[in-house]
Amino acid sequence: MLAVSKTCAAEAVRAAHAAGAREFGENYVQEALDKIAALADLRGELQWHLIGPLQSNKTRVVAEQFDWVHTVDRLKIAERLSAQRPAQLPPLNVCLQVNVSGEASKSGIALDELTVLAPQVAALPRLRLRGLMAIPEPAADLAAQRLPHRALAQALAALRTQGLVGLDTLSMGMSADLEAAVLEGATLVRVGTAIFGARV
Ligand SMILES: *Cc1c(COP(=O)(O)O)cnc(C)c1O
Repeated sequence: MLAVSKTCAAEAVRAAHAAGAREFGENYVQEALDKIAALADLRGELQWHLIGPLQSNKTRVVAEQFDWVHTVDRLKIAERLSAQRPAQLPPLNVCLQVNVSGEASKSGIALDELTVLAPQVAALPRLRLRGLMAIPEPAADLAAQRLPHRALAQALAALRTQGLVGLDTLSMGMSADLEAAVLEGATLVRVGTAIFGARV
């Protein structure tokens, strides 16, 4: 479980850590950097995941400060993250973001672009391609919620069949659809409001 702490104060993250949470997701780079600094005493115990959009002018601080990036959807961003990952840190874990519902407004690549982008990202020396991430369109019932999650799980299986090794992560499911995501094989659910309460 990834505790999504965007808009929450650092002290809320500290309380979640005291309750056992170790993986935290943030959407906005500057807000995350402030929190990482405020919680520097816990740095060795926490894993920070960027789950929001990443612009190329922010890749350096992200490569230096985060443990994971879930929103890689362009080779150029991946190349910058790899080049800027400090040598003394382990490779940066990344997921490719897939626009699984095909919404025009959403970031992420189309499912059929994965067979090209995934091997290119997997080949970068300072990244470790872990899997796929998606934010499906909201759906009314469990059966409808399961469909996009199933499509993402099938896409991950197809990449494994293509010969990519080390893909172990399906980052899917949020407060409203995490049951559907787990039923379809999510390995990392991203949960904000169900842990921290409604965002202001
Ligand atoms: C905010 C956010 C979440 C958490 O959403 P909740 O509905 O609060 O659980 C998960 N993933 C992404 C990418 C988000 O931006």
